Amino acid sequence: MSEDKFDAIIVGAGIAGSVAAYVLAKAGANVVVIERGNFAGSKNMTGGRLYAHSLEKIMPGFAGKAPLERKVIKERVSFLTEDSGVTLDYTGFRAQMPHEESYTVLRSPFDRWLMEQAEAAGAQWIPGTRVDEVITEDGKVVGVQADGESLEANVVILADGVNSLLGEKLGMVKPIKANAAAVGVKELLELHKDKIQNRFNLKDHEGACWLFAGFPSNGKMGGGFLYTNQSSLSLGVVCGLQHIESSSKTVPQMMEDFKNHPLIRPLIEGAQLREYSAHVVPEAGINMLPELVRDGVIIIGDAAGLCLNLGYTIRGMDLAVTSGEAAALTVLHAKERNDFSKTGLSSYQTLLDESYLMKDLKQYQKLPLFLENPRIFNHYPKMAADFMADLFTVDGTPAKPLYQKVMSCCQKGGYLNLIKDAICGVRAI
Ligand SMILES: Cc1cc2nc3c(=O)[nH]c(=O)nc-3n(C[C@H](O)[C@H](O)[C@H](O)COP(=O)(O)OP(=O)(O)OC[C@H]3O[C@@H](n4cnc5c(N)ncnc54)[C@H](O)[C@@H]3O)c2cc1C
Repeated sequence: MSEDKFDAIIVGAGIAGSVAAYVLAKAGANVVVIERGNFAGSKNMTGGRLYAHSLEKIMPGFAGKAPLERKVIKERVSFLTEDSGVTLDYTGFRAQMPHEESYTVLRSPFDRWLMEQAEAAGAQWIPGTRVDEVITEDGKVVGVQADGESLEANVVILADGVNSLLGEKLGMVKPIKANAAAVGVKELLELHKDKIQNRFNLKDHEGACWLFAGFPSNGKMGGGFLYTNQSSLSLGVVCGLQHIESSSKTVPQMMEDFKNHPLIRPLIEGAQLREYSAHVVPEAGINMLPELVRDGVIIIGDAAGLCLNLGYTIRGMDLAVTSGEAAALTVLHAKERNDFSKTGLSSYQTLLDESYLMKDLKQYQKLPLFLENPRIFNHYPKMAADFMADLFTVDGTPAKPLYQKVMSCCQKGGYLNLIKDAICGVRAI
């Protein structure tokens, strides 16, 4: 063991880790962050839309300083079939309080900036180094091993992202199950900002978030997303891991077909591919929560499965911020009492329980199971498209009354299924 003992060692400089480091360092704690990537943001991926509320609480006015892309004012949700799309479109021009706003972000510049804030506050930072082991003595975590060296700390904060191998080795995180995660692929497509603004009807710094169900994930659990950045588009597909095997298309093929969909192709025309990335998303919410605390160790962010996929929006980054803050406050509290045992660190759970985070995870507890229903991604997008086609087609034959058009669309999937799914859907959210 080295002679210097840190108050906390943080594994991973994603949003969760950097926020924990920032809060600890700002309060004068001796903290080091170890990240395997060569710079913060180099290994990280998101869709990505950042809901500002949790970071605004820690860094008021951060939106004026951080490298954010566009402020979201436009929301779209589409149901796609192979050759059609039904879209719900909302544009909000009303003024919002800073904590109500959300922004499109690119992780590479954003995470780098966040880590710089932690460094400026006094956090130490070791990039390009993988933590290989968490060191335990008499069942208590006392440090980490990285690059053949041992570092000692009162608390190790695991912020190593989804599929936390270190959490697994400790026996706190269970190996990820296929039904608890999805895989996402994303292309970053460079496009001139004027074209983005014209194609999406946006002004400077205004942004759009667009989610798609049905065709993008080949009718399987998942969907597509499109976010507007300053001068690029983030376009991607997410598909439930357990459905990939039975899908007639691979995920890269889903992505290709999505890009060639008649609704998408004109929007990305002329854009240049700048990045292609893939990442796992935790999807089971509270149902995949690991053991969050043990003697000398706390798990935060995606490593703890703290992510919410509601179908019409994905949230992991605001939860990463909140769990990073809660872990930091817990370590500071434990330091005051010089008690880093599981009991001494138990306020982490309390802080999460008292925040929106655990309340939201509980609120949407039934949603992952509801989204397993294949009709959501298969039958209903087609039903919506058929209804619209029927409604707007005038072909010289006598018009049917509206209720007959509705009934004939509903009949295809079965009335009982429709009623059952509507009830389950309402209960799930
Ligand atoms: C396709 C997709 C779309 C998404 N869309 C959204 C969205 O629009 N909005 C939203 O809020 N959330 C979204 N999410 C979720 C969000 O991206 C995550 O919840 C968030 O990135 C979690 O942050 P984190 O800091 O916990 O983990 P990560 O960002 O994954 O950071 C973990 C860090 O730990 C490092 N690390 C891992 N192991 C080690 C080790 N042994 N030693 C050293 N370093 C290590 C990694 O290199 C990485 O930098 C999306 C996710 C995906 C995949």
